[in-house]
Parts: sequence; structure tokens; C-alpha cells
Amino acid sequence: MLLTPEQQEEIDQLRSTPQLTLRAVAPGMEGHLYRAKPVLDHGFVRVVDYMGDDAAICQAARVSYGKGTKSVQNDAGLIRYLMRHWHSTPFEMCEIKLHVKLPVFVARQWIRHRTANVNEYSARYSILDREFYIPEPESLAAQSVVNNQGRGQVLQGAEAARVLEILKSDSNRAYDNYESMISDDGQDGLARELARMNLPANIYTQWYWKVDLHNLFHFLRLRADSHAQYEIRVYADAICEMVRDWVPAAYGAFEDYRLGGAVLSAKSVECLKRMLAGEPVTQEDSGMSKGEWREFEAVIGR
Ligand SMILES: Cc1cc2nc3c(=O)[nH]c(=O)nc-3n(C[C@H](O)[C@H](O)[C@H](O)COP(=O)(O)OP(=O)(O)OC[C@H]3O[C@@H](n4cnc5c(N)ncnc54)[C@H](O)[C@@H]3O)c2cc1C
Repeated sequence: MLLTPEQQEEIDQLRSTPQLTLRAVAPGMEGHLYRAKPVLDHGFVRVVDYMGDDAAICQAARVSYGKGTKSVQNDAGLIRYLMRHWHSTPFEMCEIKLHVKLPVFVARQWIRHRTANVNEYSARYSILDREFYIPEPESLAAQSVVNNQGRGQVLQGAEAARVLEILKSDSNRAYDNYESMISDDGQDGLARELARMNLPANIYTQWYWKVDLHNLFHFLRLRADSHAQYEIRVYADAICEMVRDWVPAAYGAFEDYRLGGAVLSAKSVECLKRMLAGEPVTQEDSGMSKGEWREFEAVIGR
């Protein structure tokens, strides 16, 4: 279940009691506030709170007493300049607090981003729900043969059905045992902090995650990338949509310089110059390894 009726009622209540404020308000973000955006089969991302907007970035950059904005065009130009030159601290003036429900194996990748503040649901204190991530058939893929950290063709027919059945039955069996171990019906009942240890990594957990915009962009750069695992990428994609509505100018600059941009090594720049001068350049005389050359060719669209 995405949200319980009680949780939905709380959200509806919060959304139905707007308050006057002197704080900066980003109209695009107000539409997202509190609403749970579904991700995977039982997960979601929900904006709990946010601070700042595009103007706050300019305000900090200009160390201004007032709003710090000049004109929308002027501000967008300044934000692009800051992004282009890695002048990152003004972006740290904006913050976002998210409530995320995600499978534990996705949480393990996510938690590697150390520059956020996290508070996770306690499985020592509370009983976990019987909610497991079971991939859609189109996400059930074989090991990639070209990339050890990736997946290849989608599994078909009997193999796909067998794998799905294993995932479902293992999850349910582990949860049945979890329930029977913690039960105090006719027995002492094992502590929750111990009983959870045989639950599989596709069980869902939840946390509050607060991060500033600079570090959020770093997270999104890595996790909304096509090389990121699908199950974390869909969360990053959902957050991208929120950030686009929150700070449109900053997100536009991020999309241009980071998400869609590329970093070229000195050797790559040298090769590019030689190519533009009409010189035939091959991997062998590029000074690059085969892997580097392959990635360089992908960047220049060869
Ligand atoms: C495609 C992909 C594959 C990966 N594969 C693996 C893997 O096989 N094994 C594995 O263990 N991890 C893996 N990772 C995780 C990766 O190594 C990073 O831990 C993760 O992406 C977080 O990046 P980060 O440290 O830059 O982010 P954050 O922790 O958010 O840090 C942001 C930035 O802050 C600075 N910073 C933060 N803390 C420190 C510190 N203590 N000291 C110095 N600077 C700091 C750094 O500049 C850092 O880039 C993978 C990540 C990706 C995207």
C-alpha cells in the first residue's frame, strides 16, 4: 500500500490549511508539498519541507540585503555562471526535506551520499510491513555481458516466471518467519531488533532525508544517470521533476552543464582539436585507453 488512509488524511489536512508567511515561496514546489509521488511498486517520494528558491541563490551570490534579484533573465544568467564555474556555495542556501519509502537495497546505495541528514524508520522499535519490491517483468533482466555493474536483456518465458516466483515466495516465507519469531502468542517472542535480520533486502524502509541543493545536484548527477541502477534512478527521476518545479533556473543550469554535459580530459580536448583541424585521429594515437576512447566517442557522437 502506498499510503494508509490515516496518512492520506494527515496529508489532506496539511494541504487544506495554508498559512501566510514572509518566507520565500516557490509556487512550483507548493504543488508538490506533502504529496506522495509513487515510485516502484510500494515506494514514494514526498516533499515535507523546503527552503529557498532561485532568488535565494542569487541573493546569497550577491550577498544582498534585499531580495537579491535583478530580473528573471539576469538571475538565470547569474545562476548559469555559478553552475558553469563550480561556484557552489550559493546553491547550498536552498534545502529540501523529503520523506522517502524505498527498498533496503536501494537505501544502501542512497546512504552512501554522506552530505545529507537522515532519520530512518526504526525496525528495533516498530514492526516492518509485509511490503517487498518485486520488479515488473520488463525490469527483470539478465547480467550484462559488457558491464559487470549492469543488466542486459530482459528475461523471458519460463525463466522470468520462475525468478518472479522465487522472489515472491522467498519474501513471503521470510516475512512469515519474522512474524512467527516476534509473536508473543504462547512464547516470549524474539526482539524485533533480532528478528529483522533474516528479512531480505527488497523489504521497504522509510526515512526523512534533508539535503542542500548543491549536494542534491551531486546525488542527482550520479543517480539520475543512465549508468545508475534502475531502482535508484526512478527515485532520482522523481526528485528531478520536483526540483525542476522548485528552482527552474538552477535546474535548467544543472541539466545543461551537469546532467546533459560532459567532462573532457586534457587528452580528449587535444584529440578534439586535432579532429577539428581535419586530422584523422584513432584510439591508438589518441593517448587514451580503449575504454576512455569508447566514452569519448560516445560524447562526441561518433
Ligand atoms: C554508478 C555507481 C557505481 C558505484 N559502485 C560502487 C561500488 O561498487 N562500491 C562502493 O563502495 N561504492 C560504489 N558507488 C558509490 C560511490 O563510490 C560513492 O560512495 C557515492 O556515489 C557517493 O558519492 P560521494 O561520496 O561523492 O557523495 P557524498 O557522500 O554526498 O559526498 C559529496 C562530496 O562531498 C565530499 N565529501 C563527503 N564526505 C567526504 C569525506 N569524508 N572526505 C572527503 N570528502 C568528502 C566529496 O567531495 C564528495 O564527492 C557507486 C556509485 C555510482 C554512482
